[in-house]
Order: sequence, then structure tokens, then C-alpha cells
Amino acid sequence: MSDCIFCRIANGEIPSATLYEDEEFRVILDLGPASKGHALIIPKQHYADIYELPEEAAGRAFILASKMVKKMTKALSCDGFNVVQNNKPVAGQTVFHFHMHLIPRYEGDQVGLGWKMGKLTEEDKAEILEKMQITD
Ligand code: 5GP
Ligand code: ZN
Repeated sequence: MSDCIFCRIANGEIPSATLYEDEEFRVILDLGPASKGHALIIPKQHYADIYELPEEAAGRAFILASKMVKKMTKALSCDGFNVVQNNKPVAGQTVFHFHMHLIPRYEGDQVGLGWKMGKLTEEDKAEILEKMQITD
């Protein structure tokens, strides 16, 4: 995918501020950070989103997220972290190469990742539970 910006970044064709790299992943600083230290875990292979990402790679990506969060928390002295991952435009995905956001959180920061809480109705609960038991 030579026209994919994250393929080119992950494989080192385009330079980036790299916090970590191995055979499978590169972790870089986001150019439009939500907070100081906002980083992205990017696999070197192209998968558009979580639907394409093999489950084993998903597991390794989350293990890396766990390690990075701990290391970055110490280094940056942040107070918490959001691990965010968007799939498809409706969910806010803008770069269609799988990536995980690591967003350091600081007391009093103005980072907005919230949503308006709804209410789980009995009707929705019954419908969802029924649908989830359908195997295809
Ligand atoms: P998404 O909205 O797809 O979940 O996240 C895309 C993220 O990639 C955004 O946070 C955006 O700031 C970041 N981004 C887009 N292009 C580049 C780039 O060329 N370099 C870096 N480091 N980050 C990028
Ligand atoms: Zn790509």
C-alpha cells in the first residue's frame, strides 16, 4: 500500500518521532496530539481496521499498548491514560490503516473523549442478547 501514509511511516519511508520499534510495530508521536505525549501504535503490515487485523496481531498490539502505557506514565508523569481505537468513518477513523491511540491524561486537562450517557432499556437489552446468540 504505497499510497498509505501509515504504511510509509511504519516502514520508515517517511521519518517520524519514534518511541519504539520492532519487526511488527512502530510507536510514533501523533502530529495532532490530544495531549502531550499522544502516541500511535502502528503495525508495519497494512490492515485497514480491526475487522482486517488478525486476532494474534491484535493481541500483540494490546500487549505493546500495556508496556508503552507503563513506560510513558513513568517518563511523562501523567495521571492516567486513554487507549482508543477507531474503526470506520462513523467511529471517527480518518487514517485507514489500523492504529491504536495512546493518550496520556493529566489532572485538569481538557481532553474530550466523552459521550452522553444513555440508558439501557429492557427492550434493547433483550434484543441485543438475542441477536448476539445468533451464529453465522
Ligand atoms: P484516527 O482518526 O484515524 O483514529 O486517527 C488518525 C490520527 O493520525 C490522528 O490523531 C492524526 O493526528 C494522526 N496523523 C494523521 N496523519 C499523521 C502523520 O502523517 N503523522 C503522524 N505522526 N500522525 C498523523
Ligand atoms: Zn497502510
